[in-house]
Formats: sequence, structure tokens, C-alpha cells
Amino acid sequence: MKYRCILLFGAPGAGKGTQGKILGSIPQFLHCSCGDVFRNLRAESPLGKTFLEYSGRGELVPDPQTIELWQQFIADLTKTGRLHPERDTLVLDGIPRNVHQAEILRDVLDVVGVFYLCSKDTESLIARIQRRAMKENRLDDANLEIIRQRLKTYENETKPVLKFYGKKLVHEIDADQSPAKVLSDILRHAVKS
Ligand code: ADP
Repeated sequence: MKYRCILLFGAPGAGKGTQGKILGSIPQFLHCSCGDVFRNLRAESPLGKTFLEYSGRGELVPDPQTIELWQQFIADLTKTGRLHPERDTLVLDGIPRNVHQAEILRDVLDVVGVFYLCSKDTESLIARIQRRAMKENRLDDANLEIIRQRLKTYENETKPVLKFYGKKLVHEIDADQSPAKVLSDILRHAVKS
């Protein structure tokens, strides 16, 4: 059985987390942020250390560890009754984050829509990330050089995922609009999916 899901896609700072939290509050939608799963690891655990090492450089955590952690997380959600896979839609935020991850998850995910939060304004993305650094105490958000590296990683490794899923599934949403307008654009397509 595959997990029905929609993907929130876009550059760091594009608003995936904001929209994911709102969508996840709708009954039968469950928000799952891969970055949050990593941040909830104990910093002194082996994978916690690996996460800090890679995210601190603006790079992706290697695929085997990422996929294993994610699968474990989803299995726990199911076991504890927070996810009912036959009824619920996962709102995935931050995974799959490269084409290899998308390939590994091909047999696991039933992707019914990809919401590409597209921002034309890199400087406003950077400003949003820097504001978030203060609120959420995120080391990888604080340093401009790391932010630029994350944006590069996104362009080089994550963006090709859009092609993997193809035009039929991808809905481009203007991420420079207000959060309410972004939400309404997502919902217009999501309820049809
Ligand atoms: P952002 O969307 O702002 O880049 P996230 O919270 O989604 O932030 O991710 C923070 C960091 O966690 C990433 O820079 C990366 O190092 C790691 N990470 C999150 N998701 C993945 C993933 N699917 N694969 C590899 N690394 C990931």
C-alpha cells in the first residue's frame, strides 16, 4: 500500500513550513516536515551529529540515513494512530529533496499533487530566512554564507525533482503573495486531487 500525499516544494524560505502547518490542521491531512524530524533528534545522537554537520554547511544529509529516518517516523505515526494511511493525506515538506530520494520513494508514495511555491525574489527569501533564525533558533539560518549554499543546493539538487514528477502533477503557486492567498491557491487544487 502506498501513502497518499501532496508535496510542498520550493526554496528554503518559500513558505513550505507555514503552509504545511496550516494544511496539517485540516482533518485527514497530516503535515510531515523532514527538517523538523531532523531537528527533533537529540544533538548528541549519531544521526543528530550527522544532521548538524551537513545542515551547518548548507548541504543535504546523505540519502540512506534520511530515508531510513523518514520511514521510521512514518511507521511510528501509523503505529501510534496519528496517521491512518487508508484515509489520510500526508503533506510532505522537505522530502523527497533530490531525484534519488524520489526514486527510492517511488513505490512508497502515491503523489497526487506537487505544490511548487515559486518565489522570484531571492533577496526576500533570504530576509525571511534571517527573520526565522531569530524566532526558531536555527543555526543554519543565521549565517548568510550558509543560506546562499542552501539556495545553491536547492537549485542543483532539489529543483530537478519537479521534472521527475512532471507537468501533470506540478502546480506552480506564486510564493510572493500573502500566506492566505498562497493557501487559497493550494487548496483550490488540493481538494480536487
Ligand atoms: P529549509 O527548507 O529552510 O532548507 P528544512 O528545515 O527543510 O529547511 O531543512 C533543514 C536542513 O535539514 C537541510 O538544509 C538539510 O541539511 C536537512 N534536510 C531536510 N530534509 C532533508 C532531506 N529530505 N534530505 C536530506 N537532507 C534534508
